[in-house]
Amino acid sequence: MTQIWDAVVVGGGAAGFFGAITCAGELAGARVLILEKSKHVLSKVKVSGGGRCNVTHHCFEPKLMATHYPRGHKSLIGPLHRFGVAETVQWFGERGLLLKTEADGRMFPVSDDSQTVIDCLQDAAWSAGVHIKTSTGVKSIVVKAGASSPVFEIGLDEGKPLLARKVLLATGGTRVGAGEWLARSLGHKLHEGVPSLFTFNINDARLKELSGLSADPVEVRVEGESLVNRGPLLITHRGMSGPAILKLSAWGARELHALDYRFDLIVNWLPGQDVAASFDALRQQGGTRQIFAHSPFDTIPRRLWQSLVEAARVPSGCTWSELRREAKSALVDQLSRARFTVSGKSTNKDEFVTCGGVLTDEADMRTMESRRCPGVYFAGELLDIDGVTGGFNFQNAWTTGHLAGMALAKALEAERLPE
Ligand SMILES: Cc1cc2nc3c(=O)[nH]c(=O)nc-3n(C[C@H](O)[C@H](O)[C@H](O)COP(=O)(O)OP(=O)(O)OC[C@H]3O[C@@H](n4cnc5c(N)ncnc54)[C@H](O)[C@@H]3O)c2cc1C
Repeated sequence: MTQIWDAVVVGGGAAGFFGAITCAGELAGARVLILEKSKHVLSKVKVSGGGRCNVTHHCFEPKLMATHYPRGHKSLIGPLHRFGVAETVQWFGERGLLLKTEADGRMFPVSDDSQTVIDCLQDAAWSAGVHIKTSTGVKSIVVKAGASSPVFEIGLDEGKPLLARKVLLATGGTRVGAGEWLARSLGHKLHEGVPSLFTFNINDARLKELSGLSADPVEVRVEGESLVNRGPLLITHRGMSGPAILKLSAWGARELHALDYRFDLIVNWLPGQDVAASFDALRQQGGTRQIFAHSPFDTIPRRLWQSLVEAARVPSGCTWSELRREAKSALVDQLSRARFTVSGKSTNKDEFVTCGGVLTDEADMRTMESRRCPGVYFAGELLDIDGVTGGFNFQNAWTTGHLAGMALAKALEAERLPE
């Protein structure tokens, strides 16, 4: 007779592991199987955060935490109350993985090594008795009528189909996985997947030879759109990156996709400052000082300052008291509303994510169960939830994976009870 798995988890990433571990840990004897199409599980955890894995963010207030998700923020408030950052930190701590917080709030393992996160998850899966099959892609899920509740026939890329009482879909971002097709085949609508968390390609003489320099804070605005962000900006050999740009790319993922990543970016290197008034003060305090030589603003590095002074065509050797009206106005423009033409995007190697996925109103966000297909659950990036950079995307995976695992265990237990 064909064996029936209690729960089959499709996808061996962060969300799938959390769901499987929670379900198997909560329900003694539950037969839980993770199916992973690639050779290795948790491969994104491995490369995440530049190899250090930014596990979560030091923000323990669910409502505030949810504001960091351009898609899904309202839907996530409830789930974060049930299993949020505090519970995540405790979960890993209880299993020997201690986290530390960096100045900007990002939380990493104290080891600074993503492998320790993988080891922790794999040990927990092993202890809970979770079965794992790698190199096993799922190509179809068919709902069959069971004695009292449906049974799912899970078609594999190779080999015989499997049977399961419950299914957790945790196949990750919809631009790459087959999860999109599986969810659609079960009657779900998805928001189209587009990239989020990318850097801007800018070919501009002002940025030449400045790769590696950063300024903080900087305000960036997309011309013609209501997209603005403020934070640290990093100049790269291809253009601009850093939190201000990555966050702008996340909040504007759909708008920038519609613009084919070609638009004008207005950069204010001195947000909140009256630059013209600062120039007047500089003229009074040290009028004989050469403008080009030193950046008078702590937040603008010298070489960037010099590039902007050149772009404003301030005459060479000009002092603050010699600065003419036109050059002054050009320098104010370069500092507070410099225009850069963005001509494409590049992948941010440290973290990227898909905007789009299964609509959150088609899942019960208390249990993560499908509202269209009872017995199917969702977790992680497959959902139309994505966060800005800083540990928010993994937190979505931990939160929704945990809730799905708890609900799976509860539903399976209820089915076990004698009539
Ligand atoms: C380079 C990089 C660095 C990142 N760094 C961070 C970070 O430091 N902090 C942070 O918060 N976020 C980070 N992210 C985002 C984060 O990794 C994801 O949001 C998170 O991994 C999502 O977890 P998931 O389990 O939903 O999906 P995934 O981790 O993508 O896992 C899904 C799994 O499902 C498998 N799968 C897909 N289809 C099938 C199928 N049909 N059958 C079987 N298996 C299937 C895939 O092979 C994959 O292993 C990073 C992302 C990238 C790309």
